[in-house]
Amino acid sequence: MTFDSVIVVDWSAAGKPTTGGDSIWIAIATPQGTTAENIATRHGAEVRLSELIADALTQGTRLLLACDFAYGAPRGLAERLTGQPHALALWDWLVARVTDTPKNGTNYRDIAAEMNRHFTGGGPFWGNGQKADTPDLPRLKPALPPELAHFRRAETVGHEQGLQPKTIWQLAGAGAVGAQSLTGIPVLHRLRAAHAGKIAVWPLEPTANAPVVIAEAYLSLLKTDVAALVAGGMTADEAQTRTHAKAFFDLSQTGKLGDLMAPNEPQELLQAEGWYLGAGMAKALQAQRKTLTPPRLRNDCFAMPQGVAWTPVDAALARLRAALHPVTGIQTVPLHSALGHVLAVDVTAQRANPPHANSAVDGYGFAHAATGSGICQLPLAQGRAAAGQPFTGTVPHGQAVRILTGAILPHGVDTVVLEEDCAISATAIAFDGPIKPRANTRRAGEDLPQGATALQKGHKLRAPDLALLAATGTGQVQTFRRLRVGVLSTGDEITSNAAALHQIYDANRPMLLALATGWGYDAIDLGHAPDTPNDIREKLTLGAQTTDVILTSGGASAGDEDHVSKLLSTEGTLSSWRIAMKPGRPLALAIWNGIPVLGLPGNPVAALTCALIFARPTLSTLAGAGWVEPQRFTVPAAFSKSKKAGRREYLRARLNADGHAEVFQSEGSGRISGLAWATGLIELPDAATEVTPGMPVSFLPYTGMGLT
Ligand code: AMP
Ligand code: MG
Repeated sequence: MTFDSVIVVDWSAAGKPTTGGDSIWIAIATPQGTTAENIATRHGAEVRLSELIADALTQGTRLLLACDFAYGAPRGLAERLTGQPHALALWDWLVARVTDTPKNGTNYRDIAAEMNRHFTGGGPFWGNGQKADTPDLPRLKPALPPELAHFRRAETVGHEQGLQPKTIWQLAGAGAVGAQSLTGIPVLHRLRAAHAGKIAVWPLEPTANAPVVIAEAYLSLLKTDVAALVAGGMTADEAQTRTHAKAFFDLSQTGKLGDLMAPNEPQELLQAEGWYLGAGMAKALQAQRKTLTPPRLRNDCFAMPQGVAWTPVDAALARLRAALHPVTGIQTVPLHSALGHVLAVDVTAQRANPPHANSAVDGYGFAHAATGSGICQLPLAQGRAAAGQPFTGTVPHGQAVRILTGAILPHGVDTVVLEEDCAISATAIAFDGPIKPRANTRRAGEDLPQGATALQKGHKLRAPDLALLAATGTGQVQTFRRLRVGVLSTGDEITSNAAALHQIYDANRPMLLALATGWGYDAIDLGHAPDTPNDIREKLTLGAQTTDVILTSGGASAGDEDHVSKLLSTEGTLSSWRIAMKPGRPLALAIWNGIPVLGLPGNPVAALTCALIFARPTLSTLAGAGWVEPQRFTVPAAFSKSKKAGRREYLRARLNADGHAEVFQSEGSGRISGLAWATGLIELPDAATEVTPGMPVSFLPYTGMGLT
C-alpha cells in the first residue's frame, strides 16, 4: 500500500471549543515534510478534513487518513443494535443519532445511555463525567453484559505488547476513547458519504482501489519518538500526530505499510470490530524506526572544552567533524530521480560491465591460435555478429566472421582485426600478422566485475554516476533523504521593504538560501525575526519542525543586541565558539528542539566566509555525504599584505590574466560588492605572514566550495 500523503488525527470529545493539549490535532505528512494544525471544534475539523480529502482527489494523489479512536466495538454491540454484526452497521446507527453543534455541544452521552438500554440489566458504557450516576449511564464501570467482551481483539494484542489501549465502553477519564469514537464515527461517516465511492474504511471494507483510505490509529506505538518531541517543548497531542503521520508515511514510501495492514485475523472479526494500524506490531515498528531515523545529535555535541579562549580554525573544524553524523532517514528512490541524492549504502554491481566479452571495433573475428606472423588469409564464415544481434553458432577454427562494435564474441572467436587493416573479398579476408591475442576485444567485467562496489556510501550522485549504476543493473538506490536547511535572518534593522534610512535590505537570506540550494539541499526560508527573544524563539521553534538544520545570521556575538546567542544560551544549548579567524566573530552553535542551529555573523562578508568554511562541511556531514574540504590552489600573489599572528584570514580574491591572485581593494566586512567581485578566497595561515607580489598563496575558488 503506498500513499502520497498521510493524515493522522488526534480526536477530542471536548464539550466546548478547545485548543492546545487535549484538543484536535491534524498532522499531515507529505514528501515535503510534516505539518500540524490545531483545530478548536469537531465541526471545524470535519470541514478541514473534507477540504484535505477534496484536495487529494483533485490532485489525483492517494491519501491515508487515520484517526485515533476505535472504529468498532467488541463483537455483539452492532448486532444487538442493528441486527448486523458489521461495524459499518454501527456507523449507520450512530450517524442517525449523535448530534454536535458548531461549538462542540454533543449528545453522545444520551446516545450511550440509549445503547445501554438495549441490554437488560444494564449495558456496557460507563463514565458519564458526573459526580453521580445518570439514568442508564453509570459513573463507574458496571458489570458487563455477559455476551460482551471488555476489549476488542486489537486492544488485547496491544496489551500483550505492553501498551494500554482503552475500551470503547469507557467514556470518561484519562485516555478514555469511547466518547471520541461516539463523536468521531459520525464525522467519518459523513466524510465517506460526501466523497462517495472514493473513500474506503480499512479493514471494514475493501480498500485496494480507493484513492482515500480511512484507517484507525493508536497513537502510542512510537513512544520514544514522541517523548523526544515533547522534551523539546511540543504538546503531546501534536507530537503524537506528527510522529505517527511521519512514520506511516515513511513506511508507505518504503513499501512496508502493507505489513501493518495485513493482520493475521479472520476477515469476519476485522469487519465486526475494526483494527488499528500496527496492532501487535509496536515492538517491530519501534525497532524499525530506529533504523529509519538516525539518532539525533547530542545536546552537548558542540561544547568546547573549558577554558578555551580563541579556537584556531583547524581545531574548530576538527571538533565539528567529530561531533556530527548524518541526521536524515533513508529512502529508496528510482535511479532516474536520484540525481543529487547521497547514497546511504554502498552500491554493488548487479551485473558485470560489460556483461560479456565483445568487440571494440568493426572488423573480423577469429581464433587467435589459427593465425601467425606474415600474411594471414582466413575464409569467411556465413553470418555476422552485431550489437544486439549475436552470432549463434560456433565459428570454425581457421575461419573469420564479420563482427561489429559491441557484438558479443561468438564461440570460436577471441580476437578481432580492424576492418581497415584487411583486404576483403566475398569469401575471405587477409591481413598482415602477427596480431596480438584478444586484440580489439573487451573482456567480460573488465570495467566492473559483478559484485564489485560501483559507488560508495556517502557519494553524491552526478550524471556519470547514473550511467555507471544503470549499466551495472541498479534500478533503484537507497539514499539519505535530502537535508532540509532552514535560513533565518535576524535584526531590527532588516526588512524586505527598506523604506527608512535606519532600515536595510536582507542580503544574507537570499545568499544563504542560494548557497544551500546550490549545495543540493532543500532550502527553507524561515523569514526574518526582529531582535526580540519571542520572535526568534517562535521562528526557531517553527523552523525546527520542518528542517534538519537551521542557519541564522546576525546577533550571534555576545553583545547587548546579540539576541540569537542570548536566547540560545538561556533556552537552548548554546556553545559560543570564538574562532581565531577574520572575517568572522564568534560562531554560535546550539541544539534547538533537537535541531542543530549554526549562528552565523550578520555581516554579509563574514556570513559567507563562515558559511563556506564551517557550514559547508557541517551540512555535508549532516546530509550523509561526509566531511568536505575546500579545493585549494597555490598561485602567486598579485598583492602585498602584512598579516598578524594568531588568526587565519580570508580575503576576497580573483585571478588576474596572468593567473595571479589579486584581492579586493577593501577588507571591510560590510563590503558586499567585494563578494560579488571575487571568484574565490585567499586563505592566509594562522602565523604572521608578510605577503609580497609573486609569493605563493592559497586560493580557494568559489566553485571548489560548491558555489554556483
Ligand atoms: P550583527 O551580527 O547582528 O551584529 O550584525 C552585524 C552587521 O551585519 C550589522 O551592520 C547588521 O546590520 C548587518 N546585517 C545583519 N544581518 C544582515 C542581513 N541579513 N543582511 C545585511 N546585513 C545584515
Ligand atoms: Mg543584529
